[in-house]
Amino acid sequence: EIETAIKVVVVGNGAVGKSSMIQRYCKGIFTKDYKKTIGVDFLERQIEVNGEEVRLMLWDTAGQEEFDAITKAYYRGAQACVLAFSTVDRDSFEAIESWKKKVEDEVGEIGMVIVQNKIDLIDDAVVETEEAEALAHRLRLRFYRTSVKDNLNVDEVFRYLTEKYLFQ
Ligand code: GDP
Ligand code: MG
Repeated sequence: EIETAIKVVVVGNGAVGKSSMIQRYCKGIFTKDYKKTIGVDFLERQIEVNGEEVRLMLWDTAGQEEFDAITKAYYRGAQACVLAFSTVDRDSFEAIESWKKKVEDEVGEIGMVIVQNKIDLIDDAVVETEEAEALAHRLRLRFYRTSVKDNLNVDEVFRYLTEKYLFQ
């Protein structure tokens, strides 16, 4: 019996791996196709935390990152948020704070986490680890490094957000 359902939004610049992350977590697959691959508003996955079944609904911004009016509708009712940037995209890192603000303007303060994706491309990194850690520290957010491609740390991100929602 599921007593808790949590709406999670995954935001960040285009091509950082948001859709891939949702697909990886909910379907267990990874594709190199740079296309809108989900085709629905959200995917879901059920996890158990402390003996309680929780349903996570992961909302994707459908490749419409630049259209405020559309993405705002996605944020509505969100209870947790992934702020994602890419290891190989400097602009995406610099946009993190504005994504945080966009979401908070719509839904207020909710549990958030900063995710540096594509850590498998670390040799081509354009963001220093220290800078990312400093940003997370300043914004008082937990920071994870993931590779959706290699399935590294993806489960941990969503488990953390779930526990944060349930227990604090
Ligand atoms: P979105 O625009 O943020 O939804 O990004 P997508 O999920 O569409 O991913 C953009 C591109 O990055 C696709 O070609 C993905 O296959 C690729 N990608 C996503 N995650 C990773 C990762 O962890 N490592 C690498 N190397 N590529 C990734
Ligand atoms: Mg996408």
